[in-house]
Amino acid sequence: MIIILCAPSGSGKSTMVKHLLETYPGQYELSISATTRAPRGQEQHGKEYYFISRENFEQHIANQDFIEYEQVYEGLYYGTFKSEIERIQSAGRTIVFDIDVKGGLNLKRIFGDKALAIFIAPPSVEELSRRLHGRGDTSEEMIQKRLAKAEIEMADAPHFDHIVVNDNLDTAKNELDKLIEDRYAVRR
Ligand code: ADP
Ligand code: 5GP
Repeated sequence: MIIILCAPSGSGKSTMVKHLLETYPGQYELSISATTRAPRGQEQHGKEYYFISRENFEQHIANQDFIEYEQVYEGLYYGTFKSEIERIQSAGRTIVFDIDVKGGLNLKRIFGDKALAIFIAPPSVEELSRRLHGRGDTSEEMIQKRLAKAEIEMADAPHFDHIVVNDNLDTAKNELDKLIEDRYAVRR
């Protein structure tokens, strides 16, 4: 099974992914994307992302190493290595994708019914702005870019299998767990 989590940046996607990985140890594994952006805070190469140069990224594009990639923000590439999917599936684990909305919908088209695509929505753009500022690791310029992109991304929410509004965190975590459990039960 494949779980695709998409959300405007700051909606709480990383928080939800962390919850899944911690609640069900050994069952889920995050697909680690490559990116040309610099690490933030405590981020480590090979943990949150493979942090690579633009030149290296473009070489991987030429080699067709990505199942999908996007310039998510102007000048910044993000992409999913095909090898990452093989690595996680051969370990017998469920892949969790944390990617942008366009990339998520592309993967949903590729994987079809095998994938459960969930959109995590912030309660409002104002709250999204508060969370991005509160996280304290992103420049004002990048926050404004993320907020502008968020408004566009929210319009795609209806194309997902489900929408989880991350207002109260515990409620949102429970809702996510239930959607996944229901889906597993159906497939068993
Ligand atoms: P994303 O991965 O979507 O960019 P994060 O998981 O980093 O978002 O969350 C953005 C910020 O909002 C973090 O500081 C996180 O602790 C906080 N946050 C996440 N969910 C909630 C929530 N339900 N209520 C309040 N703050 C939240
Ligand atoms: P951030 O810089 O906040 O970590 O991520 C910015 C955005 O890029 C988020 O929406 C994140 O989900 C998305 N993203 C991360 N990895 C990928 C990827 O491999 N492909 C695509 N299309 N988007 C990604």
